[in-house]
Amino acid sequence: MRNIALLGATGSIGDSTLSVLALHPDRYRLQVVAARRNVKRMLDICRRFQPAVAVLADPEAAAEVRRALDGGPTRVLVGSQALAEVVRGPDVDVVVAGIVGAAGLESSLAAAEAGKVLLLANKEALVMAGALFMAAVQRGGATLIPIDSETNAMFQCLPGYRCGEPAAGHGVQRLLLTASGGPFLRTPLSLMATATPDQACAHPRWVMGRKISVDSATLMNKGLEVIETAWLFNLPAPAVQVVIHPQSVVHSLVEFVDGSLLAQLGSPDMRVPIAHALAWPERLPSGARTLDLFETARLDFEPPDRARFPCLDLAYRALEAGGTASTILNAANEVAVAAFLDGRLAFGAIAPTVQAVLDAVPGQAADALETVLAADRAARQAAQARVAA
Ligand code: NDP
Repeated sequence: MRNIALLGATGSIGDSTLSVLALHPDRYRLQVVAARRNVKRMLDICRRFQPAVAVLADPEAAAEVRRALDGGPTRVLVGSQALAEVVRGPDVDVVVAGIVGAAGLESSLAAAEAGKVLLLANKEALVMAGALFMAAVQRGGATLIPIDSETNAMFQCLPGYRCGEPAAGHGVQRLLLTASGGPFLRTPLSLMATATPDQACAHPRWVMGRKISVDSATLMNKGLEVIETAWLFNLPAPAVQVVIHPQSVVHSLVEFVDGSLLAQLGSPDMRVPIAHALAWPERLPSGARTLDLFETARLDFEPPDRARFPCLDLAYRALEAGGTASTILNAANEVAVAAFLDGRLAFGAIAPTVQAVLDAVPGQAADALETVLAADRAARQAAQARVAA
């Protein structure tokens, strides 16, 4: 029986994880759940799974959940520090890091430092503080398994590989990161610039939270994954190539020095990578529908249109620059996407906002958490000022 801490339990990754856990009550116990402030969903989860601890970031939401669960088995805590402590504790074996954005960094780092099995969905933590994060994994002896479908696909193609080792040492020449292209792959540019949040979140293949859905529409999600991939597999930027694959059936490929390409295929359903990572190195049913190749019928691949999706080059630029550049990229993007979802920024202004912040905020070596957090704050301020202008 493995004790699971599910961070971001009320979100889309949280939902998919709960549905896999519900299939295997004999193997996994939901020990800890965490979210920001979704009281209703948190209560549903706690009543159904009876975790030992629930942590909410929002004090009022925590008080409401505590009142509603009074007398039950679940202890309700509040705040990111409490969450980091619980994650480090001896009662947690596996941490599913599914908090969205920079808010997930502290708890993901805590899991890495404490040597947990860390199932990482929160790519922003790695983008923000890749060097520190991978050093913490190494120091803590954590087992890091990506559950982002693309990086999980690459990991599945590399049996015997441990994240953080140079993938080149396993015969890897390049990693081919597939992207569906999102809802605006063929939309006329003039319409794309003025797209609404609902149009941007209407992903053709995946059902996800709103922030990552917007990132998929700008292709910043792929840019963040380029950075995530470079850190996880310890490869330089030119060894990570983005391939548009509209069917979202091939979740990514690994190209070896001998000319072999290995790919992982499956239905676009997050339960597949989550079940893989939970059971690793074994295999367990995920509840997802098996891919029907006859129904899929064809697989298309094309290079990304870099003029249509400028966020992709911004991400490569940040990765090549190193240091806090990708922290700045991530923070500016979070502010711009939140402003877009609030109706304060046009879709077409997201990339220019991120670019302006990357130009304006000077990068530094990202060798201490305080430096990374200061770069994050400076970039957020610069982005807020630009959004408000
Ligand atoms: P959602 O928006 O659906 O869920 C976000 C979760 O994070 C919610 O549980 C939310 O709580 C919680 N949260 C937000 N802020 C805080 C905070 N300050 N403290 C604690 N919890 C917080 O996002 P997704 O599930 O789509 O994405 C989660 C992460 O997984 C992202 O990093 C994303 O990039 C990554 N990912 C997602 C995929 C997907 O298919 N959805 C695929 C691959 C990666 P509340 O509900 O209370 O606000």
